[in-house]
Amino acid sequence: MMGENPTSLSNAKLNTLLWLGRKLNAAIEMEPFLQIVVESICQLTSSETSSLFLFEAETSMLKFVAAPRTSSIKLKRLRVPLEHSVAGEAYTTGKPVIINHAHEDARIYRSVDQELSFTTRSILAVPITYRHEALGVLEAVNKLGGAQYDDADLMVMETLASYAGTYLFNAILLEEALQASQALEEMEKKKNDFLAIASHELRTPLGLIVGHASFLRDMAQFDEQTQSQLDTILRSAMRMRELIEAMSNTHLGSTSQKRLKRKSFSINQMIEEVVASFSAQATQQKIQVRVDLPAESLHLQGDNEKLAIAFGNLLKNSLTYTEPGGHVLVKVEKLPGFAKVSVIDDGIGIPAADLPHIFDKFYQVESHLNRRHGGIGLGLSVAKVMVEMHGGQIWAESIEGKGSNFSFLIPVDLDQGGKSTSIFAA
Ligand code: ADP
Repeated sequence: MMGENPTSLSNAKLNTLLWLGRKLNAAIEMEPFLQIVVESICQLTSSETSSLFLFEAETSMLKFVAAPRTSSIKLKRLRVPLEHSVAGEAYTTGKPVIINHAHEDARIYRSVDQELSFTTRSILAVPITYRHEALGVLEAVNKLGGAQYDDADLMVMETLASYAGTYLFNAILLEEALQASQALEEMEKKKNDFLAIASHELRTPLGLIVGHASFLRDMAQFDEQTQSQLDTILRSAMRMRELIEAMSNTHLGSTSQKRLKRKSFSINQMIEEVVASFSAQATQQKIQVRVDLPAESLHLQGDNEKLAIAFGNLLKNSLTYTEPGGHVLVKVEKLPGFAKVSVIDDGIGIPAADLPHIFDKFYQVESHLNRRHGGIGLGLSVAKVMVEMHGGQIWAESIEGKGSNFSFLIPVDLDQGGKSTSIFAA
């Protein structure tokens, strides 16, 4: 319509339309925006009143959502059916409806008039659509001075309807996005609660199994076969304990830095201790582990235990995902304000498509069904949480079939972590 006869609108009306268009971009709240639209209808089409309906899925009717201030309170309770109403016709056909002699037109939905003690003399209804989806209807009611609605009014109404369509569609999308993110947050919380409760409940009976099995192994004299069965029980129980620890550590991400036990510690010593705790596993798997530490012991302000868990998870993975005869290099470097720890292996590597996801909770490259390795896909996400709690950063580089390089950076002084971000940008 706009292209057909743009000169029939006065400058004042065009200015009002332009102003409304700008309002649309100003991100104002839904109610004031719709109010402006209906008030503008009266002003720009010289109408006694106007209304804005939205389709309501629960009732399959059109619901009044805005009308000029004088009538809006009453109107809000009203709904109009899609059949036998002017608004319904505009909505279902997607075309404007003009009725200039309402008293003799059967399409008028008389209940509204009766309820409001109002007489509809003329109506101009246009559908509100966005990308061919019908959202509602705009109506101008009772052209003042007994005049008839004309093409200029239609042009105004179609412009306002297209503004309303864009605005409403954006609002609907925003609402849907908000609801989706709230649902995700709730699910995340439920998952974390479940992990926290399950790991807590499993810990006690497992402690008893480990305790009693260790007692039996140390105290009683069994034959070799029974002894080896006891060892298997103990090994499996210890493995289960590791998994439970990983589960209980995953929900730490949402907690604040308050949970960090800060103290000064030697990173050289921490690395050596963790490497020593894996030396039996490395020997058994015939993997050579080399450690390259700074000559002068590097001291950090932070939580020794949490960083030992992070580093231990990287080292455990490098042993798990490297074939016998392979090599692992643990390297600690001193950078300005930071300590960098790298665990480099010449193992199976990680496919490029999986690399961006490996720090996600429960993500594993091999599917659970045909896994050759144990684990539940939490080790790296736990390591990430621990490192980020320190204001640090963790990342991985890898070439499938050649090996992987996992590194993390930790600020030497915890309080400087957030400020010294320049190195992360590099
Ligand atoms: P998992 O318990 O499965 O080891 P992680 O969170 O520790 O869980 O690791 C996630 C996935 O990343 C692993 O399942 C594995 O596919 C891959 N991965 C981690 N570290 C390495 C590595 N050093 N070499 C190859 N793949 C690795």
